[in-house]
Amino acid sequence: MDPELIKDCVHCGFCLPTCPTYELWGEEMDSPRGRIHLMKQHVEGTALTPEMAGHFDACLGCMACVTACPSGVRYDVLIEQTRAEVEREHRRRWDDRAFRALVFRLFPYPRRLRALRLPLRLTERLRPRLSPLLERLDPRLAAMATLAPPIPRRVRIPGVVAARGERRAVVGMLTGCVQSEFFPSVNAATARVLALEGCEVVVPPGQGCCGALSVHSGRPEEAARFARRTIATFERAGVTTVVVNAAGCGSSTKEYAELLADDPAWAERARALRFVDLAEYLAELGPLAERHPLPIMVAYHDACHLAHAQGVRAEPRALLAAIPGLRLREIPDAAICCGSAGTYNLFQPEAARELGDKKAGHVLGVGADLLVSANPGCTMQIASAARRRGESLRVAHTAEVLDASLRALPASSLGSP
Ligand code: SF4
Ligand code: SF4
Repeated sequence: MDPELIKDCVHCGFCLPTCPTYELWGEEMDSPRGRIHLMKQHVEGTALTPEMAGHFDACLGCMACVTACPSGVRYDVLIEQTRAEVEREHRRRWDDRAFRALVFRLFPYPRRLRALRLPLRLTERLRPRLSPLLERLDPRLAAMATLAPPIPRRVRIPGVVAARGERRAVVGMLTGCVQSEFFPSVNAATARVLALEGCEVVVPPGQGCCGALSVHSGRPEEAARFARRTIATFERAGVTTVVVNAAGCGSSTKEYAELLADDPAWAERARALRFVDLAEYLAELGPLAERHPLPIMVAYHDACHLAHAQGVRAEPRALLAAIPGLRLREIPDAAICCGSAGTYNLFQPEAARELGDKKAGHVLGVGADLLVSANPGCTMQIASAARRRGESLRVAHTAEVLDASLRALPASSLGSP
């Protein structure tokens, strides 16, 4: 933990109202200011206690405090350094270790996720009935079962998708791990939208994890390995701009040079590649393809790693608002996390559920036909919270909405409840 970064905090407390865990529990040590205070104590020699580790684990890493802080405190860097310290120094309980091992040996590996598709598909109808049993066994297993989305058919995207009409750019596309296996329609829509907007889209096969999960979970060495592999993949593909459609992946790929700072040659290679969010890139490129009407009311949800970590808020709203017939609605308390936060809803299911319930209440209150977000984790989390209230919520990714408009599909084609 960098003592200089800790010193930047002037304890003003402006970040407190935007912190979801402070809002839930009202405990100073579960606020950004309190966690920074614990970091300071540790840096000054206090050993890391299980209680301290618990307060750090309870942080969603949503970065709402980074947006709110008037002193520019780099809580994002601090919590990443702290999580790594927790992993090095704190001995977790055996069941916690076993569950974390399961998650980290599974999620960053698309092939292993692919192997899960069939069992998940076969148990799809059983899952709601299994859930109470799993809940008694371990709430984390129940969360895993209830959050797993319906398994869609696989979609094959060619290695190169040609630009429609005059070619305006050549870009790479990051396919992601969970995104490619469980939300392949989002990747397919992303490639089509880019192509219709005049981009040749290069989709290197065999892409692995970008390292987002590892870097946000205190596993920097593993994250650096994934980062090097991703950089090399796109270098071989001959692109310098890589479009990313998942918020968590977007924020971690943009920070590759910082992650690889101890390895100057790789940090330089990271700086030579530009990773950019899809909405950010399309806004820069400017619209070319015709937007067909889409008569639908949409509630747009800011994924934390897009809004707080990347500062991308206006671009997706502008893209959606430019679709004729589409009415855009804001969700109250938009800056507060939905509780998904990467793997948070698996590791901290109770807190995640409370936050999901609050967010679902706000979303349903808006009365929109469709919830749109740039992170599948968020939409899964909010849709699952809506199901607990006996409501079904149609959800879609920004790319899918744009794709439907560009291809003149009906609004009813969007979002499965
Ligand atoms: S990252 Fe989110 S949960 Fe963690 S301290 Fe900041 S606002 Fe609170
Ligand atoms: S993190 Fe920023 S907003 Fe929060 S207490 Fe410290 S200086 Fe104030």
